[in-house]
This record gives sequence, C-alpha cells and structure tokens, in this order.
Amino acid sequence: MSRNVPPRSAPAIAVVGAGVVGAAIALTLCRRGAHVTLIDRAEPGRGCSYGNAGALSPGSVAPLALPGLLKSLPRLLLDPEGPVYLPPAHLPRALPWLARFLAASAPERVEAIAQRLAALNADAVEHHVDLAREIGAADLIRRTGHLHVYPDAAALAKDAYAWTLRARHGVHFERLDRAGIEALEPGIAPRYTAAVWLPDQAIVLNPFRYVQQIVRAFVVRGGRLVRDSVRTIEPDLPRGWTVVTGEGRQNVDHVVVAAGAHSGTLLEPLGIRLPLESQRGYHVTFRGVAAPVSRGVVLADRNVFVTPMEHGFRIAGTVEFGGLNRPANPRRSALLARFAREAFPGVAAAEESHWMGHRPCTPESLALIGPVASRQGLWVATGHGHLGLTQSVNTARLLADAILEGAPVLTPAIA
Ligand SMILES: Cc1cc2nc3c(=O)[nH]c(=O)nc-3n(C[C@H](O)[C@H](O)[C@H](O)COP(=O)(O)OP(=O)(O)OC[C@H]3O[C@@H](n4cnc5c(N)ncnc54)[C@H](O)[C@@H]3O)c2cc1C
Repeated sequence: MSRNVPPRSAPAIAVVGAGVVGAAIALTLCRRGAHVTLIDRAEPGRGCSYGNAGALSPGSVAPLALPGLLKSLPRLLLDPEGPVYLPPAHLPRALPWLARFLAASAPERVEAIAQRLAALNADAVEHHVDLAREIGAADLIRRTGHLHVYPDAAALAKDAYAWTLRARHGVHFERLDRAGIEALEPGIAPRYTAAVWLPDQAIVLNPFRYVQQIVRAFVVRGGRLVRDSVRTIEPDLPRGWTVVTGEGRQNVDHVVVAAGAHSGTLLEPLGIRLPLESQRGYHVTFRGVAAPVSRGVVLADRNVFVTPMEHGFRIAGTVEFGGLNRPANPRRSALLARFAREAFPGVAAAEESHWMGHRPCTPESLALIGPVASRQGLWVATGHGHLGLTQSVNTARLLADAILEGAPVLTPAIA
C-alpha cells in the first residue's frame, strides 16, 4: 500500500473551510491516517486568514473583555476613529453578544478565561515552527519577539491589569525605555518612549502563503481538496453526515465546521446557534518598500500591529462590528495608513493595498473547539477571534485527538 493512502477502516472526514484553522486540521487528520476532504468555496486562505497581522502570540492570555469594560465601552463603540466601532444600525443585532461580552469582563471570569487561553496557546511558536519545517515553509517564521510601544509610562500603566495577568501565566517580558526601543527598532517615531518586549513571540512573514503551503502538504499526503460551496450539512442516519455542495453529496463519518465567521450560518439550519459575532478587522500592506521594523510591533495607543512581510510591511487591527454583509469601510483602513505614517516618519512612498476580514469572535474570547452536544460526528472549530493564526496548530492537535482517540477537548459546550 502507498504511504499516502489511508487504510479502508480509517474514518472519512469532511472539513469545511480552508482558512488557517481548517487547513491545519485537515493536514493533521490526514497525517494521522484519516480520509479527509477539505472543502472551500474560495481559494484556500482567502478568508480572514489571508490578511491577518501574522503574529504568533502565545503570550496573549488576556481576553478582550477585561474588568472596567462597562465604563469604557459606550465611548469606545461610538467613536468612528477609535479602535472599536459599532455602527448604530447594527446595535440591536449585536446586543445579545455584547451583553455576554460585558458579563465575561467580571474579574473571576477573566481569570478562568486566561487560564484556558494559556492552555490553548501553549508552545504555539514551537508547534508552528515544526509545522513550517514539515511543509517546507521554515523561511516564513521569524522568532524575533514582539515589541509593544507606548507614548509614555503613564499610558503603559493603563494596561497594567493585562500585563500582570500575562506575568501570572508565565509570559516572559521586559520593560524598555526609549533607549531600549531604539536599540531594537530605531525606525519608530520619538513620540514612543516606553515599551514592553516579549522575546518569545514570533511572526509569519506571509500568512496567506502559509495557508497555501499547509494545503499543498495536505494534498501531497493524499488529502482531497474541493473548491465548492457547502450548502447544507445533513444527518445521514443511523450514523454519519452528508455534506451537500454544488458538486453533489458526500457521505462521511465526521464533519468539522471550520468556516470561520460563516460557521454559524452553516449550523443554524440544524438548530445550532454559535455565539459568534464578526469583528471586522482591516489592514494596509505597503509593498515594494523596506519594512521600518524587523519584528512584530504593537502601537499600543492605536491598538494596531505592524509586521514586516515578505514584500514590504503591514499595519493591521481595529475592530468594527457590522456583520458579514456590509461592505468594507474605507475610512477604517485609511486610518491605519495614517497611523503607519505617523509612527514611521522615514518610510518612503509605497504601493498600498487595503483589506478587511471577518474575525470569528465569541464574547469570552475563547474558541469553540469540539463536538456538538448530542450530534455524534459533528464538530466545530471556530471562534478564534484575534488569535486564529496563533491557535490553529494547537486546535488541530486537540480536535484530531478528540475525533480519532476520543480525548476530551478544552472548548466551552456547543449545544
Ligand atoms: C486585521 C486582522 C488581524 C489579525 N491578526 C492576527 C494575528 O496577528 N495573529 C493571529 O493569531 N490572528 C490574527 N487575526 C485573526 C485570524 O486571522 C483569524 O482568527 C483566523 O484567520 C480565522 O481563521 P479561520 O480558518 O477560522 O477562518 P477563515 O480564514 O475566514 O476561513 C474560513 C473559510 O471558510 C470558507 N467558507 C465559509 N463558508 C463556507 C461554505 N458555506 N462552503 C465552503 N467554504 C466556506 C471561507 O471561504 C474561508 O476560506 C487577525 C484578524 C484580522 C481581521
């Protein structure tokens, strides 16, 4: 028997969604002997995974909803130039999610969530390095740490809660002054005078190429890639599932829904409601220009991430509520371009591309990974929010352990 052909008794598994999460899951299941079909209606990696900041941030154990949120949220949401924006017309739809988001900011909830985030992030950089080597993409990962820069020590002190939380979870970091910033990143504007350096974090220099290479490795290992839209997922009694696409119907033992922010739409007809809201994020990529930084840099006062890329550099971030169907708001990405020019005054004029993607976000900042209660063979892997790239490889391991070996999973219950 060829090395790439799994034995007949191996389970047949369909993975819906070839973003970084679905791609990592498909490759892991395939490597462990399952018959896997990976289905995406678009080119693999063209969803949210296309344009993220490329940060591998296992140190991100602080959820988005932190104590004190209630006081700051109304002002935050209604400022169109602020880091978080909610168009007033979307408020009624977002309200139930926002109510859970606020509830998640209670100190004891935050502690419990941070613990789970730390578990899901554990050794993420090492696991990505292993994966990148396996798929011939080792050149894409740079382990030069992340630098969070602040205008001054007072601005840094406002984030004290999150830094203390990180310290409690063993995240290694150092405080730096202006001289320390200049020693690491001399291109950063003088208005940043305080910083925190996290040496153990990493970046991916081209998140889109990374997904494409994962998918290529999956196909080389004998996985089947289907470019089609999944219309419905139907129970195939007495056991198994039928995945209905434009190409036809496929019967499988297991289905993994890893369709990012669109996962809820696929599961709703089965009566399953995921607590997902799209946090629309933007990037501007400057091409054909030398990157002004050599590692991932967070402009903490702007809530944005700046990353050197294979061909230039990228500034990414901001949160905009507004659902899956509204067009992108060019003012949000124009704002990012302005922040980049302010922070890196020496950067030459460059070709810019602007992009928006849908982060699949749960109110608790915890991904939904695991079985759907009382639906044997139906699995979910979504809701990774701001950390989908970082958590993709660990998600794939957990889910493969659960599907193939019956191991328990970390996820909140999915009903
Ligand atoms: C601006 C920005 C910056 C970010 N920065 C970082 C970062 O630095 N580090 C980090 O860890 N994370 C970051 N993230 C988050 C990260 O990008 C996401 O969490 C991650 O990409 C989600 O991956 P996914 O595979 O779940 O979803 P996606 O990449 O969206 O993939 C889902 C796939 O499902 C497919 N699909 C949907 N419906 C169907 C259907 N019916 N039939 C077939 N296919 C379907 C889509 O075509 C898509 O390809 C960032 C996000 C944004 C927006």
